[in-house]
Amino acid sequence: MSITKEGRSALKRWLLALAFVFILVGIYFAYPWLRTRGGRMARLREWFHDPASHVDWTIKAGERCGDAPFAMPSSGYIGFIWGDSFYPGHQHQGIDIFGGEQAGRTPVLAAFSGYLTRLSDWKSTIIIRIPSDPLDPGRQIWTYYTHMANKNGTSYISPDFPPGTNEKFAEAGTFLGYQGDYSGDPGNPVGVHLHFSIVMDDGRGGFSNELVYGNTIDPSPYLGLSLNASKNVAGVVTCVAQEGG
Ligand SMILES: [Zn+2]
Repeated sequence: MSITKEGRSALKRWLLALAFVFILVGIYFAYPWLRTRGGRMARLREWFHDPASHVDWTIKAGERCGDAPFAMPSSGYIGFIWGDSFYPGHQHQGIDIFGGEQAGRTPVLAAFSGYLTRLSDWKSTIIIRIPSDPLDPGRQIWTYYTHMANKNGTSYISPDFPPGTNEKFAEAGTFLGYQGDYSGDPGNPVGVHLHFSIVMDDGRGGFSNELVYGNTIDPSPYLGLSLNASKNVAGVVTCVAQEGG
């Protein structure tokens, strides 16, 4: 069987169209990642290089921006925000606050009052249930704090919250632990920071899987900061309330 000239050119057009679609899909998935690499990552490097000259880029634990309901859960530079991308197809579920100190030094405080749970196998993580969302009263949300252990898994979480802690009330400002570099792989620790996110309820009174971006909520209005990567493309995070925005 032979293919006619017309058939060949139709096939060519098809292949070209298909290639075009692949390229578009590729750009769609890679764009947030390229944006993060070029913007936020470059700025984080700049900050690491000379933290003292960029003190105005940092936040302080316990401070509040305007009349936002949440207080800052830790001190340092917010290197990555909600929706940043670390590899093509990935979207960051929360914010990363880099204290600029060694692991085990920079305190982590509860951003908002609630009921604290630490599962029995959680070395670096706690989650706090907030029965009524301050910005959407009546719905239950969760605040998730992680990387509070060293690279070997030695926990920096406060002894007040040992593994297996269930529904212990923690007031806003309660000391939770210290920033660490735990990643689960001792040979490949993360840079010392706190990862903080707001997680949706699973509808049955439990928390949904924090690793899924779609299960998390834009933290911007809760902290009063510009924390949405699709709106704050490469800029430093600022207090939106103080800008009158
Ligand atoms: Zn993170």
